[in-house]
Amino acid sequence: MRKKQSIVRRTPVPHSSSVPLVTPLMPSVVYRSASPDAIDAQYDGTAPGYVYAREGHPNADVLAHKIDMLEGAEGGLIFGSGMAAITGALLGCVKAGDHVLGGNQLYGRCLRMMAQELPALGIETGLADPTDAQAMRAAVKPNTKAILIEVVSNPTLRIADISGISQLAKDIGALLIVDNTFTTPRSFRPFEYGADVVVHSVTKLLAGHSDVTLGYVAAKDPERLEAIEGIWATFGLTPSPFDCWLAERGLHSFELRFDRAQENAARLADALAGHRHVTKVLYPGRPDHPDFDRAEKLLKGQGGNMVSFIIDGGRTQANALTKAAPNIAFAPTLGDIGTTLSHPPSSSHRALSESERAALGISEGFFRVSVGIEDPDLLIEELSAAIDASV
Ligand SMILES: *Cc1c(COP(=O)(O)O)cnc(C)c1O
Repeated sequence: MRKKQSIVRRTPVPHSSSVPLVTPLMPSVVYRSASPDAIDAQYDGTAPGYVYAREGHPNADVLAHKIDMLEGAEGGLIFGSGMAAITGALLGCVKAGDHVLGGNQLYGRCLRMMAQELPALGIETGLADPTDAQAMRAAVKPNTKAILIEVVSNPTLRIADISGISQLAKDIGALLIVDNTFTTPRSFRPFEYGADVVVHSVTKLLAGHSDVTLGYVAAKDPERLEAIEGIWATFGLTPSPFDCWLAERGLHSFELRFDRAQENAARLADALAGHRHVTKVLYPGRPDHPDFDRAEKLLKGQGGNMVSFIIDGGRTQANALTKAAPNIAFAPTLGDIGTTLSHPPSSSHRALSESERAALGISEGFFRVSVGIEDPDLLIEELSAAIDASV
């Protein structure tokens, strides 16, 4: 008897004369080409198309193009996480024997990379205070090839002297890499201030819903971008199509979300400043912020969605505060549609000694709020009541 033919075979997508409104999700790992000549043409860049998802796929390209437009960039790349993006940017800019100078309040994992992983690869590193371009200049070495900074530091929300640092990078012929995660292109576009490479954790405000982990890198110089792309494809730092698809969906509401979260943050900062148990509020949009003038100039009055504050007391009061605010998620991330509260001494800054934290002004009563888009009155009421209940 003849075997029955299997009907479960790969077949082409049905042809359609209409096109979907929403970007299709394309999880395919591999793409079919017509012939060896056709694949050759794709690799040569004379015909458009995809071959293998680690080397690029449509959902990543659609997302990258949208972030490119926000940043004023071309040919940006999506990475599997913000840290993958930082890794790709750095390894595409420096090699063993070079020195990287970083801001001393970079994202925690970036500090760890500067302290451990880069030196293990033979890349020298150093840190200095990016609010002070002279301090950065003093930390430069003859082999400094890249400078990595964030515009707004975590969690004390200090503002870097980006103009001074950009001039420094030019003077010494180093590449300036800016992690624009906190500021986002809504309030700051690093390429307009002399950045050579811009990096994002797309996980945060750009995607905005805490359901994807992604990063982004763009470079001004196409040759630099090509070097970064080589690291991206070879080290396999590329993203999942599904994550890109979700992030694209999130990005469509990014500007609305950012503006609303920022308005809420400004209101929350003012309310906290008037709270009798709050000893300090840090918000770049308030005149009592140590870098207010610089924030006005660089961020054009956009204080962002992050607010930090310090309450009277230690760990006991900090524990009591989070328990008294069950509707405000105690979670160490930022940029979600909902407000999240984090406590740097027990999370992002736990590896630092108490005196190192004290030098940064981070005590046990220090909290960082990533303000979301919910009703600001409710938020202010809940957080104020929780602070009252904690002391
Ligand atoms: C979260 C974050 C990162 C790392 O991004 P992941 O997507 O978590 O890998 C890098 N820089 C900043 C400023 C961040 O907030």
